[in-house]
Amino acid sequence: MPRFRQLIDRARVALAVAAMGLGLAGCQTSSVPKISSLPRQCEVNLPHLTVRSDVEIHREDPFLQDLLNLGKEVRATLHLPPAKRPVTVYLFRDEARYVRFMRDRHPGLPARRAYFIGTSKELMVYAFWGDKTMEDLRHEYTHGVLHASLKTVPLWLDEGLAEYFEVTPTGPIGLNRDHAESLSLAVHNGWKPDLRRLEQVDDVSQMQRGDYQEAWAWVHYLLQGSPDGPRQLMDYLKALEDAAVAPALASRLEADLHESEQRLVVHVAGLGLSALTSHRSPPGKPEHAIAR
Ligand SMILES: [Zn+2]
Repeated sequence: MPRFRQLIDRARVALAVAAMGLGLAGCQTSSVPKISSLPRQCEVNLPHLTVRSDVEIHREDPFLQDLLNLGKEVRATLHLPPAKRPVTVYLFRDEARYVRFMRDRHPGLPARRAYFIGTSKELMVYAFWGDKTMEDLRHEYTHGVLHASLKTVPLWLDEGLAEYFEVTPTGPIGLNRDHAESLSLAVHNGWKPDLRRLEQVDDVSQMQRGDYQEAWAWVHYLLQGSPDGPRQLMDYLKALEDAAVAPALASRLEADLHESEQRLVVHVAGLGLSALTSHRSPPGKPEHAIAR
């Protein structure tokens, strides 16, 4: 596996490119950024997180507190070691400028609403101001938090955790309603999980909607649907702290794998029912989109 494999989604990309941070501090009132430049009008530095934005932001802005809280939640839930690297979030003023930037600076990447790009020098999130900004930021920043603490993160787990933590904290923790409802229907039609197959998908361009759903389901099952699940997941994450190549979780589960897959089916079927019957989010909440 190449040291810098390319991981493409709205989500995470690792590229062997030079870091592009501009190192400017504080809000600026100078000229509008040139096309293809990174946002640099305003910068806020927080613990493990720097946000650079085209439009003015303040340390007290609620979305910054939400990101900080998310980082704490991810680290606490997963018992991650302290972050070894900061994450920089670049917020473009609108979709058009973001699209131009991505087209000019990363022409090989497919169009996506947001990106996480990890290099040897910087962990970066690209997003733009819009209706779905917070949802996108929660997803991408989760990738950033994971990669800031772990040496490697297998694709399925990276996406499963991002799908889990992108859910806004107003409802049941980690309950991605779209995934729950879709998987519940799939279970009704005979779907079965296959962790060994899922772990073989190591290029995000190969990941299908069903793979994101199954990745989320494994994370939800391990964290909330199995007495041994949290310990199994934490042990696995511990192994990822220093592993250059991720070991297979399926191999670590060994004799328990088949039983785990059977229990996961029951778990997601129940989640689907819960998603259908629990309180719906208000209309203003961004819908979940698999735009990758
Ligand atoms: Zn992602």
